[in-house]
Amino acid sequence: ALVTRFAPSPTGSLNIGGLYATLISERLAHQSNGVFFLRIEDTDKKREIEGSVENIINSLSYFGIHFDEGPQLSGDDQGAYGPYKQSSRIQIYQVFIKHLVRNGLAYPCFCDADDLKKIRKSQQDLKVTTGYYGRWAKHRDITFEQAKEEISDGKPFVIRLKSSGSPDRRIKYHDLVKGPIEMPENDQDIVIMKTDGLPTYHFAHAIDDFLMGTTHVIRGDEWLSSVPVHIQLFETLGFRIPEFGHIAPIMKQVGASKRKFSKRKDLDGTAEYYKEQGYPGIAISEYFMNLINSNFEEWRMANPLQSFRDFFIYTDKMNASGALFDMNKLDDISKDVISRLTGQQVYDHLYTWSKEFDSELYSLIDKNKVYTVNILNIGRTIQKPRKDFSKWSDVKSMIAFFYDEWFEKDVLSCYKLPTNVSLDVAKEIVIGFSKTYKFHYERDAWFNEIKELAGELGFAKDMKQYKANPNNYKGHVGDVAMIIRVALTNRTNTPDLFDIMKVMGEKRVFSRMQRFFS
Ligand code: GLU
Repeated sequence: ALVTRFAPSPTGSLNIGGLYATLISERLAHQSNGVFFLRIEDTDKKREIEGSVENIINSLSYFGIHFDEGPQLSGDDQGAYGPYKQSSRIQIYQVFIKHLVRNGLAYPCFCDADDLKKIRKSQQDLKVTTGYYGRWAKHRDITFEQAKEEISDGKPFVIRLKSSGSPDRRIKYHDLVKGPIEMPENDQDIVIMKTDGLPTYHFAHAIDDFLMGTTHVIRGDEWLSSVPVHIQLFETLGFRIPEFGHIAPIMKQVGASKRKFSKRKDLDGTAEYYKEQGYPGIAISEYFMNLINSNFEEWRMANPLQSFRDFFIYTDKMNASGALFDMNKLDDISKDVISRLTGQQVYDHLYTWSKEFDSELYSLIDKNKVYTVNILNIGRTIQKPRKDFSKWSDVKSMIAFFYDEWFEKDVLSCYKLPTNVSLDVAKEIVIGFSKTYKFHYERDAWFNEIKELAGELGFAKDMKQYKANPNNYKGHVGDVAMIIRVALTNRTNTPDLFDIMKVMGEKRVFSRMQRFFS
């Protein structure tokens, strides 16, 4: 069983790259019956943005990602290895810091920014790159007692790891995603505790990944270059080194080229964007499964009813150089996901979504629950699923005409009649139809009635008739149906007209017809 984690720093909202990596982490843990936990890496107070933790957790839960352990859970549910917020673990880090200093593996460094600049300059002049700042400051080899004494003066200091590495030696490891990796060893005496007594990310994450039992570290490949430092830390501390998997960022197609999503410019690079647009969380997961392993698509076709969670992912089958985010593909998958829902399920999603993002839609569907479910059920059959929208924000423009208050506002400006039929003739059609219309029609009887009416008013009863002699007719039966459609919906493009009339109900159908011709 694998133990994986998501370890965000609370410095803003979740981007889709982060969401993608998190889904991979979560799947790896849970497909092996392992543990997936959340750890908040909040030791850099300067970069912290308020509310980010809640934000990140909410986003993840919308996309169906839940943690077995983490700071958001309460009481015993938190998990046995907490606290899961690094700012609450300062004492733990300090124990390990002391241990390293006591054993001559770390030392206090009193260099200030000016000193560091001088050191770097002199190193440049000498063409050496070693980061032995303590040697220059004569502290690299002091004893624990001496260190304590120096510190007691109250001069600001950091603690540095005494690197034993050499750039001439290489580290080798097998990355879960990128395969065999070789890099120069770390030879820098990196800071592990800052002047404020807080650990650096590198140090804290190594302590936590060990204490929390992380077996597989899955993260963005901006961390790949830190692996030599991390391996050195794990080794110095005597900890077992976890497996690493580094994921390339998701790319955006812009014109003919690909680039990374930009944090500042690309709204569609945030996870929140997809929630606001109303993509079902599960559609994003399904789409990401395609990006993770390309054989998912085949699996999905063979197993249409199974949860995507039954598919086993493999990190070595991933695209190591970065997957391309394809919006059209996402839309297709999302349509597919939605087509498998019942009208009631779509209603429930729409209700929750509109409550947060579209108050007009919310009030329409909240007042008309049963009616709305009936509307959403139109054409929703297992035999031929309806695939007409990919996100909740598409729905309003498709169903708004069903609601009287919305319809009233819409027709107040004008009816959108097709130009090939005059208003007088259009009225004749609707008057004629209102005289014969009975709610309890069967579909065939209903359509025959429209055909009859077409004939009476000088329209061809079918296309064949019309095409043979177009000049003899004002139009054809399709035009007649179109006029009725516009009178009832003020739309030229709708689902099946017969279905619509059934759902609207007799009273509404009559009152809309009347409104049209009077
Ligand atoms: N806190 C780091 C980040 O914000 C986590 C890196 C890691 O997963 O080791 O990306």
